[in-house]
Amino acid sequence: MTAGPSVQRPAPILTEDNHTFWEAAREGRLVAQRCGDCGQLRHPPRPMCPACHSLQREVVDLSGTGVVYSYSILHHPQHPAFSYPVIAVLVDLDEGVRMLSNLVDINAGDVHIGMAVELAFAATGDDGAVPVFKPRGSGP
Ligand SMILES: [Zn+2]
Repeated sequence: MTAGPSVQRPAPILTEDNHTFWEAAREGRLVAQRCGDCGQLRHPPRPMCPACHSLQREVVDLSGTGVVYSYSILHHPQHPAFSYPVIAVLVDLDEGVRMLSNLVDINAGDVHIGMAVELAFAATGDDGAVPVFKPRGSGP
């Protein structure tokens, strides 16, 4: 049996590029940047479009559903804010954005590439939230 975390996750470090992502997460939304010129979605947030080099950008809401592209099961080093093992996951969201996150509410041995996942949130120490994912249809 694994004990739950004894402290909350550290708060994200906000920058000029990522603050809209973290502010949306605090509101329970998952967002990505969209190029204001060519329309390509991108994540993580950054100042320039990798496709057309435009500095124009907007923020769009994402559905929060996708599939596991790949994953890794982390046992060490341990931090008291996390329950181990931590499942680090790359999720291909339905909109075409790939996102690095954690997979929760599942035993590590049950994770598989291609499994359907949906958005959830993990609280942070500053009363914020970090987007994480859980198996689709696994409940609230
Ligand atoms: Zn562009």
